[in-house]
Amino acid sequence: MPFELPALPYDRNALAPHISENTLNYHYGKHHQAYVTNLNNLIASTDLEGKSLEEIIKISAADKGKAGIFNNAAQVWNHTFYWHSMKPNGGGKPTGAVLAKIEADFGSYENFVAEFKQAGATQFGSGWAWLVLEDGKLKVTKTGNAETPLTTSAKPLMTMDVWEHAYYLDFQNARPTYIDTFLNHLVNWDFVAENLK
Ligand code: FE
Repeated sequence: MPFELPALPYDRNALAPHISENTLNYHYGKHHQAYVTNLNNLIASTDLEGKSLEEIIKISAADKGKAGIFNNAAQVWNHTFYWHSMKPNGGGKPTGAVLAKIEADFGSYENFVAEFKQAGATQFGSGWAWLVLEDGKLKVTKTGNAETPLTTSAKPLMTMDVWEHAYYLDFQNARPTYIDTFLNHLVNWDFVAENLK
């Protein structure tokens, strides 16, 4: 069975006005779909066909000859994780166990925000900012291009796409405004809470 583009967890206009339907038509409908299509083409009739997406990411990450497969497989996974990292009327300060854990590991929610903004703004070129759990502690990390914490010991909790295709239609080159919008209006803290369990 070839991979299929996973369904979005909300309608394509559900994140507007922060992220427009136009952006989701391109970012989900074209970019994410292209990673799925490319991956299916690259693994067809190889020993990777039939393996899970996570297995393909781990195998191809360890084999320089499979960089094209890694890039597409990881981008399929990263984007699905990104869609779930947002929700309509999300963002702002979390509550409950997530807030307590953030305050324990970053000192305050404001410190987390500063670190996450810094990670997103300083990822040169294309990549991702992440909230991960590593050795029992929350950490902010960033990765370039298709790189993903899945190939490390850190457990991803949420991510923000900082490739230009994530924000250019809505924010042009203003990546910092997109990052502020993501934090203030879009983060799905319920998803983070589920991943922390
Ligand atoms: Fe993207």
